[in-house]
Amino acid sequence: MVSTFPNSRSVDFSQIRLEIRALQSQLVKWRRSIHQRPELGFQERLTSEFIAQKLQEWGIECQTGIAKTGVVATIDGDHAGKVLAIRADMDALPIQEENEVPYCSQHDGVMHACGHDGHTAIALGTAYYLSQHRQDFSGTVKMLFQPAEEGPGGAKPMIEQGVLKNPDVDAIIGLHLWNYLPLGTIGVRSGPLMAAVESFRCNIMGRGGHGAMPAETIDSVLVSAQIVNALQTIVARNLNPLDSAVVTVGELHAGTALNAIADKARMSGTVRYFNPALEDFIGKRIEEIIAGICQSHGAKYDLDYWQLYPPVVNDPCITELVRSIATGVVETPVGIVPECQTMCGEDMSFFLKEVPGCYFFVGAANPEKGLDYPHHHPRFDFDETALAMGVEMFVRCVEKILKEGRG
Ligand SMILES: [Zn+2]
Ligand SMILES: [Zn+2]
Repeated sequence: MVSTFPNSRSVDFSQIRLEIRALQSQLVKWRRSIHQRPELGFQERLTSEFIAQKLQEWGIECQTGIAKTGVVATIDGDHAGKVLAIRADMDALPIQEENEVPYCSQHDGVMHACGHDGHTAIALGTAYYLSQHRQDFSGTVKMLFQPAEEGPGGAKPMIEQGVLKNPDVDAIIGLHLWNYLPLGTIGVRSGPLMAAVESFRCNIMGRGGHGAMPAETIDSVLVSAQIVNALQTIVARNLNPLDSAVVTVGELHAGTALNAIADKARMSGTVRYFNPALEDFIGKRIEEIIAGICQSHGAKYDLDYWQLYPPVVNDPCITELVRSIATGVVETPVGIVPECQTMCGEDMSFFLKEVPGCYFFVGAANPEKGLDYPHHHPRFDFDETALAMGVEMFVRCVEKILKEGRG
């Protein structure tokens, strides 16, 4: 059977149960309403009010104000059992939307350009469905609506406020709508899925002077150039070639006149890697290289280094369950994408460090409808048909993981 949804590409949706297909128009409505009122990290007041209001309407117990704007809802099945958490992020980005759609952002300079509006709608749809089908699962589902994924990070403060306790969470799942995969595919991978995110800022202090008299100076431009080059040797020569990593200097500023030697330079950059064992390694090498080059030229430096998010690492057992569920949801013609890794980061990683789980991608791009701009682009939008697919995945995960947990 080909899609029952209007204007969507020919993807087989026969595996999505009728009741969830019937929710599709609501999912779209919720998503668009959230899309119109995007809010930045830790400011998701309207969004969390919207979520809490819906949950209360459906008789679902929830707590608000967790890590400022987070919402936690608890849905018990008819019988006691394990606890599965489902995480959805709610925040938008400081981007001016360029889409011309009726549901365009009404908040100047703020846009849901990553699809978190869709994640929230999917989680709401899942909560609604589960609240109507408590007889179909054992144990408890905890819905975690998380603020500030795009930074500075809401997962960690939510954990610190105890969202994984009382009742204690046994496993966690989450998804990202993904425009790097076509609609009708699901990306599932065991082990590292998304990279650690670290960043740095460095000031190089030399000695300025006349561009024609370099002997009197310490050229911060020359020192910086050597640092930029040498930092690339961390990936090329210090890491195991089988460990993927990135060191990017994204900013380098120095000088004000073509005939003067700049006394100061500043640079900043980002670091990515998958292997959790590399925590502390790359940052340490960056400092050693900067210190060594500065010392050899008589320059000074100060360096700030931040470890923002650890890598997203999926548990093999739960991932295997999710993979088997995914093959049932998107049988043909596109199927699942088993190996999909990205150097993007995600603070879902903090939850996955605490409890085993699986984060996966739900393909949402539809080039035929122009819905294939990359995430964080001012024209980002996705095929909303993926919303029902997300709900189906979550619901099946609840049914299967909680059932397996019982056995
Ligand atoms: Zn994003
Ligand atoms: Zn995102």
